[in-house]
Amino acid sequence: MERRHFLHLLVGTAIATQTSLPGAAQAETVFGAAGQAASQPPLTWRNWSGSQSSTPDLRLAPASVSELQNLLADPEHATAKIRPVGSGHSFSPLVPGNDILVSLARLNGVLDHDDTRCRARVAAGTLLGQLGQPLESINQALFNMPDIDQQSLGGLLATATHGTGAGLMSLSGYIEGLTLVTARGEAFECSQHRHPDLFQAAKVSLGSLGFVTEVTLQNTRPYRLKKTTEWLPIEDILDTADTKAREHRNYEFYYIPFSGMGFTSTHDITGEPAAASPELDQNDGARDLQKARDYLSWSPRLRRLILGGYMRTLSREVKVASSWQNYTSDRNVRFNEMEYHLPKENWQAAFREVVELVERRFPEVFFPFEVRFVKADEAWLSPFYKQDSVSIAVHRFFEEDYRPLFSAVEPVLRRYGGRPHWGKLNSLGAHDFRSLYPNWQDFCDLRQALDPTGRFLNPYLAGLFSSQKATG
Ligand SMILES: Cc1cc2nc3c(=O)[nH]c(=O)nc-3n(C[C@H](O)[C@H](O)[C@H](O)COP(=O)(O)OP(=O)(O)OC[C@H]3O[C@@H](n4cnc5c(N)ncnc54)[C@H](O)[C@@H]3O)c2cc1C
Repeated sequence: MERRHFLHLLVGTAIATQTSLPGAAQAETVFGAAGQAASQPPLTWRNWSGSQSSTPDLRLAPASVSELQNLLADPEHATAKIRPVGSGHSFSPLVPGNDILVSLARLNGVLDHDDTRCRARVAAGTLLGQLGQPLESINQALFNMPDIDQQSLGGLLATATHGTGAGLMSLSGYIEGLTLVTARGEAFECSQHRHPDLFQAAKVSLGSLGFVTEVTLQNTRPYRLKKTTEWLPIEDILDTADTKAREHRNYEFYYIPFSGMGFTSTHDITGEPAAASPELDQNDGARDLQKARDYLSWSPRLRRLILGGYMRTLSREVKVASSWQNYTSDRNVRFNEMEYHLPKENWQAAFREVVELVERRFPEVFFPFEVRFVKADEAWLSPFYKQDSVSIAVHRFFEEDYRPLFSAVEPVLRRYGGRPHWGKLNSLGAHDFRSLYPNWQDFCDLRQALDPTGRFLNPYLAGLFSSQKATG
């Protein structure tokens, strides 16, 4: 708290030295969330960031799998396009559709478990945040978690949602079995031994094969994590990142653009008792960076001096807590995001280029860049398919146009062999994905066989999957 006041004082001093601040007044008046909400017609669906929307004729939430099967078998809906929706936290146009949107939110909770093998069967509408405590009560815990816990299990698996950890896969890598309800209303149970191809396809399916109704998760025994956050000059972070990623169970870092500084975050298993030092609230931090951008982007040098100077005063933070209480945080300052997963050999060069590009051309950017490490897996459409990866993410405040930034950064990330996160914004099409995924055609064939009339395809997915065979 006191340190935030210190930053305000520094920014305020910088303001006082200026006679005009055009950016500041503009930012207050142009963007207003309240007006946006009031104008929405009742049926409009929007994702978390507001980058996607649609006005479906029907929004349904079946109370049971058989209700879902009846819906799919109902001749009245035979020609309707049907999209599964989780909690709407994807940035890319995976969900929008104007016919029927179906949420499995009412199918939630741990259904049963196998103590010997440390596995739990969980309904796919369960939110990640609803899982920690119930799993702990059956002596189980997830291997890893992403930045937030608001996603549904079905939704996060569909896009290969990941946390960080060079030795840890995306969450789709920890599925031992799943049930898929297809366009004809049939339920297929699949695993490595039963329908193994369907299993590798359905683990990361973009909701294009049907509804995943339940999932068997391979878990681990409950563990306590020590999380340590440290502010460092970016060159120090880059010098040690690969080593630290190997040494710590979970390692990631954020770079604060136009500051020369970033912070690293590590998680390690500990027997220490639960404890926490005072934490800097990440949402307050984002708002401070926005203010610094508004008032200081006229002078990159002063911005760097003030931000960098402030961040050098920030102390180490340590938090010891149960794993499920120590991975995620609330994200209240909305943004749009692009994230690419790069072969691990390439990330440093790509990262340096992205920083150079953004700091040369996009002074309006203030959100941190995020870098995470993810282990390879076997799911056909996983961006980590047979590739240990490092993920680089850039963000833009949700009220501001993300396109100029993302379209400038994307070619850099592609040039270094990146595959985009399915749930995040990117401009790739069928042709690009075909060359990035060795099993692309197998997936297309399987999808076509399961859903020949394309009931689960919205315009975006039709663009990806409806031209089946490679040309030329
Ligand atoms: C603030 C924020 C933080 C994030 N942090 C991370 C992070 O740390 N790591 C990361 O990898 N990603 C992250 N994401 C991205 C997010 O995890 C993914 O986009 C995820 O897919 C969202 O889950 P959801 O439940 O909201 O699904 P939705 O966005 O609603 O849907 C995603 C896809 O899943 C399909 N789907 C939903 N339910 C089912 C089902 N039962 N069966 C079949 N298909 C289904 C939908 O059709 C769609 O294709 C973040 C997003 C936000 C907004």
